[in-house]
Amino acid sequence: MKVFISSDMEGTAGVVDWNQCLLGQSEYEHYRLLLQDEVNAAIEGALEAGAHEFLVNDSHSKMQNLRPAGLAGRARYLSGRHKPLYMMQGLDSSFDAIFFVSYHGSMSSAAPLSHTYNPRAISEVSLNGTVVGESGINALVAAGHGVPIVLITGDDVTAAEAAKVSPGVHAAVVKTAVSRFAADSLHPTDACDLIRTQARAAIEGLASAAPPAITLPATLDVTFRNADLADMATWISGVERTGTVTVAITDDDPIRLFRTFICTVLLTRDIAE
Ligand SMILES: [Zn+2]
Repeated sequence: MKVFISSDMEGTAGVVDWNQCLLGQSEYEHYRLLLQDEVNAAIEGALEAGAHEFLVNDSHSKMQNLRPAGLAGRARYLSGRHKPLYMMQGLDSSFDAIFFVSYHGSMSSAAPLSHTYNPRAISEVSLNGTVVGESGINALVAAGHGVPIVLITGDDVTAAEAAKVSPGVHAAVVKTAVSRFAADSLHPTDACDLIRTQARAAIEGLASAAPPAITLPATLDVTFRNADLADMATWISGVERTGTVTVAITDDDPIRLFRTFICTVLLTRDIAE
């Protein structure tokens, strides 16, 4: 049984500030170890339930936050930048389950460190009319490959947001949102215990899990933070302007829809201030 793990960092117990999750910042070296422990807890729980093959796709910032030799389960490690499928790079239909570890909520949610791919460019994204975060956008790739998302770890707001697109997803809520820069976190040991338990339950319950049910053709409505960003997004084929700061992308292929969205993220990054 193969498990695909997309690991972010903002959802780790104790993390409440960019300073703690950006390479080169003073607190980063401490918090990256806590992230590694949480990723390993997810792998260990899945191992207990019979999974035997793991790919960890590092999905945070420059995507080189983990120490490969320290990964549990002899997991393969997909790291580094400029991946065409970004947070979902490496997934294909040979996988049985997807874990989202240390995820965060969407820009317009009340989750700690909330953002949707780029906090300087994007203020909200909806999928078929439902406001989604990265968990919902990334679900397009899961749907395209027919693989269920069975575990999300992070704060309570983020867990609820993921369930909108992936009903029945197991959640390890390791912290409770207080504000965008505050949270009430479990002790890291308890956070890892909870993640291990939920990961195990997620794999044990795989028989009743289904890939995200996303109606096709699907539409992503993207609200940018200013008009220039929305204008630039329309330089990409298939991106239609729907308002001063809004665009829409519609596609009957969920993976192609995701890739078009990623193009808007990468292109608008250049002028986002
Ligand atoms: Zn991140």
